This record gives sequence, structure tokens and C-alpha cells, in this order.
Amino acid sequence: MNPIKISFFSTQPYDKVFFEKYNAEYKFELDFFETQLNHHTVELIQDSPVVCVFVNDVLDAGVIAALANKGVLIIALRCAGFNNVDLDAAKKAGIRVCRVPSYSPEAVAEHAMAMILTLNRKTHKAYNRVREQNFSLNGLLGFDLHGKTIGVIGTGNIGKAFAKIVLGFGCKVLAFDIAKDEELEKIGVQYEPLDTIFKLADILSLHCPLTEKTKHIINATSLSIMKKNVMIINTSRGALINTPDVIDALKDAKIGYLGIDVYEQEEKLFFKDLSEDIIQDDDIQRLMSFPNVLVTAHQAFFTNEALTQIALTTLQNVTDLLEGNEFANKAGLLS
Ligand code: NAD
Repeated sequence: MNPIKISFFSTQPYDKVFFEKYNAEYKFELDFFETQLNHHTVELIQDSPVVCVFVNDVLDAGVIAALANKGVLIIALRCAGFNNVDLDAAKKAGIRVCRVPSYSPEAVAEHAMAMILTLNRKTHKAYNRVREQNFSLNGLLGFDLHGKTIGVIGTGNIGKAFAKIVLGFGCKVLAFDIAKDEELEKIGVQYEPLDTIFKLADILSLHCPLTEKTKHIINATSLSIMKKNVMIINTSRGALINTPDVIDALKDAKIGYLGIDVYEQEEKLFFKDLSEDIIQDDDIQRLMSFPNVLVTAHQAFFTNEALTQIALTTLQNVTDLLEGNEFANKAGLLS
């Protein structure tokens, strides 16, 4: 029997390395496309009952209908977030959808911490400065994290790992989630209403999924009740932030520091080398022009441990669905 083909979209060189390595045991046929999956590229799929996609692939009702026409049975997301998939359309089309709910929460939580430390202690500026033999400290003044109040929005896998990191720095941790985590409460995390957190936090870190309720949770109204000079870190999904409102708050010096690993319009930019292009997105260009804004291109997940786990879980998810096995990873099955 021919091996079952999995068609990969938005493939990067590192995806190939990790999936080829771990597929040695699973023996699927892997067909890699660099292009994003969308209404046009869906035509590339040939005799492949499984498609494997990432955060910026388009899986709206139209693409899902086209996948069904192509005989696709499984959409395997090699990420945790699934806001880019129309799950109702997938259900109606009888297509199963799986994801990797938790591969390395520490990878993302540690990146959020890296952003905080960079923005605060300005190590990126110091690095460049000393290479120019400029050993002055002017402009590099930071603040102690110890004793500061950190607001964590969403205390699932990543938010929980992040809360533990900041507790280790001696911070006071306030959290908001629709479900409280008792373990976190026991170690000193205090759950508070969202507005209280907006009012009290010196640093806010977003770790909730993007849903209708959380879309633009950072907007002119929530910003208006925050402390002046607040630091906002978003490693979750770009649309948690209303970008024009945040740009205004940066111009007014209401936001003192902004670290974003995700951006609402990131699908046109991230994971690509655009160094020779004229970027047409004025919002990202404005954001990147502020000295107190740090943008990374959706790299929070990008560790060796995370890529290993993503490949292993995705290949096992597909195997379980094809063989009708009980799904080991229940949170990973979306439809
Ligand atoms: P998770 O499902 O373990 O946790 C999400 C938490 O958010 C849950 O505790 C849930 O109750 C809570 N939540 C849901 N709705 C909420 C609301 N309205 N307000 C507050 N909290 C709410 O997910 P996770 O693994 O911790 O991942 C969190 C997010 O991080 C994902 O949704 C994804 O978008 C993002 N992510 C980003 C990267 C990256 O590389 N930047 C990598 C992985 C995940």
C-alpha cells in the first residue's frame, strides 16, 4: 500500500528538518509547499487526505469546501492556536481538525520574559553600543522587576508557566482567566477582575486565546485605565491588540514599553525575508519606529524542544485519526 500523503503548507526549512527526522518512524509521504494555504493554493493538493498547516494559513469556509472537494479528511494544525480555522465549516464538511495544544509552554513564556528584560534593561541597545566602543550608560536606565505588579491575562499552559517565572523574579502576580488555576493561587497568584488588573499592573502579559471576547482587549478604553508607562507584552495573537489605539498610546507616552511577538496583520510579513521590499503596512512601520517597541516575528515557540514536540504530536494525531484510535491528546481534537 502506498504511504499516506500529508501536504504541508507554509513550510520553512526547519519544519522539513524536524518532520523528516521524526517521520522516519511514522513513514508518511511528506509533501512540502512553501506557500501559504489559501483559496488559490488549495489547488496544489494532490491525492492527499491530510493537510498540515500553521498559524497564518487561511482555513475559512471557502477553503474548507475546496479541501473537502479534494478529498481531504484531516486538517492537522502544527500549532496551538486555531482562530484561523472555521471549525463549523470543517464539521459540516466532515473534516477532522487536530492541533498541538501544548508543545512547550515554557518556550513561549520564556520568550515573553526575554522581551520584558530586553525592553527594561535595553540589552539590545547595549550590545550595539559597546561594539561601537561607546561605553556610556546614558539612555540605558532600567527598573527592578522585583516588587513590580505583573498582570497575566489567561493562565492556561503558557500563562501559568509565565506566572511562575515572574513569581521567581519576586513580582506580585495578578491574573485574569475565565477559569481559575488552584495551583497558581496556592503559590501566590491573585485572581482579579480584568479592570483591576488593567489599573494595577506595571507589566501586562497576554496569554489568552483570540476569541470574539478577547479581540482588541487592549484598546483605547482599557488603555485609559492603565498606569502611565505600563509595559504590554503580547506573545499570544496579534488581534488581542487594537494597533491604532496602541500607536496613539505610545505617542502619548501612556504605554512605556511594548513587546509584540504577534501582529494582527502578520500574515503578510512574518516568516518572510522582506529586506529588499517596500513594506506597505504603515502600522507596523510606525510601531517599529518607536525606540520603546520590540517586535519579534512570531518566534516565541521557536525552540528545539518545541519543534520536536510539534512534529511528534502532529504525526501521532494524524495516526490516531487515520487508525480510529482513542485520541490520546483530547484537547488536541477540535472536530
Ligand atoms: P491554553 O488553552 O492552555 O490557555 C488559554 C487560557 O486562556 C485558558 O486558561 C483559558 O481559560 C483562558 N481564556 C479563554 N478565554 C479567556 C478570556 N476571555 N479571558 C481570559 N482568559 C481566557 O493555551 P496556551 O497554550 O496557554 O496558549 C495561549 C495562546 O498563546 C494561544 O491561544 C496562542 O494564540 C498563543 N501562542 C503563541 C505562540 C507564539 O509562538 N507566539 C505559541 C503558542 C501559542
